[in-house]
Amino acid sequence: MHILIAEDDPTSRHLLKIMLEKEGHTVVPATNGAEALQLMSVPNAPRLAILDWIMPEMDGLAVTRAVRELNREPPPYLIILTSRGEKADIVTGLAAGADDYLVKPFDRGELLARTEVGQRLIKAQEELIASREALAYQATHDVLTGILNRRAILDRLHDELERLDRMGQSLAVGLCDLDHFKRINDHYGHATGDTVLRVVTQCLTQHLREYDVIGRLGGEEFLILAPIQEDHDSRTVFERLRRIVAEQVIDQIEPPIQLTLSIGVACTQGQKISLDRLLSLADEALYIAKNSGRNQIRLAAGC
Ligand code: GH3
Ligand code: MG
Ligand code: MG
Ligand code: MG
Repeated sequence: MHILIAEDDPTSRHLLKIMLEKEGHTVVPATNGAEALQLMSVPNAPRLAILDWIMPEMDGLAVTRAVRELNREPPPYLIILTSRGEKADIVTGLAAGADDYLVKPFDRGELLARTEVGQRLIKAQEELIASREALAYQATHDVLTGILNRRAILDRLHDELERLDRMGQSLAVGLCDLDHFKRINDHYGHATGDTVLRVVTQCLTQHLREYDVIGRLGGEEFLILAPIQEDHDSRTVFERLRRIVAEQVIDQIEPPIQLTLSIGVACTQGQKISLDRLLSLADEALYIAKNSGRNQIRLAAGC
């Protein structure tokens, strides 16, 4: 593990360095408090620091407080190592945000043991963060296709509408539904239907513009959010996606097939509009696209 040692006394610094390196750690030395804070502020900074109290420029307590204010996640483990051994000093050090406190002259075994404790805690926190992130991912992503799930894409639309409202920009939403998808399931089976859904999703994802977002609303229905600069953009964006899907030969199944999409598009046109209203306009446009022969896009009035 990378461990920062902030110590102005060269002999103590060297001693600590040798000791920790012997245990397999990589030591990041700092000769004063300001340097220590700077080294603890960079990305991938050490997760554990041993800080002397009395140092030039910035003392160990000030470094501790400043590091805590960075609100790093997970918070680094800070040990104050000082000759100030009064009970009141210990209380002050811990109150400043230190996790542990050791008085000089220190016992080698004790220092290493306390470093171990810090390392265990850091590991536990990292595992907690990783599992929290995994849960957050699962809660927002569709298991079959890996794109945003229904709740997440609708949340995103909600946020986008609020943001656009402030920025005065426009957004087009495309409700995309695969044509006659039931036939794929009926003919090839559900598992193959799943493969087709994955392939189509991949095709759409690959061809989105940088700022477009896609989510699976359910079944064979997708929602695409496309920020719009010019009035005619929404037709161009969705017509291109429709064509790409229609031209794609799905050869992951035997025999290969081609599938088409019907798309209903609704736009904010720089106006305040509710999420429900926007989706219902897109849904009406999709309905017309389906009833007009499928494999086409339809724009809600004013798009
Ligand atoms: P239309 O052109 O009118 O949209 O016809 P369609 O057959 O695509 O529409 P319909 O709503 O009748 O059928 C959708 C089918 O999608 C029915 C359902 O079995 C299938 N489906 C929904 N979710 C999944 C899924 O996760 N995997 C698979 N394989 N099929 C699914
Ligand atoms: Mg000192
Ligand atoms: Mg369909
Ligand atoms: Mg459908």
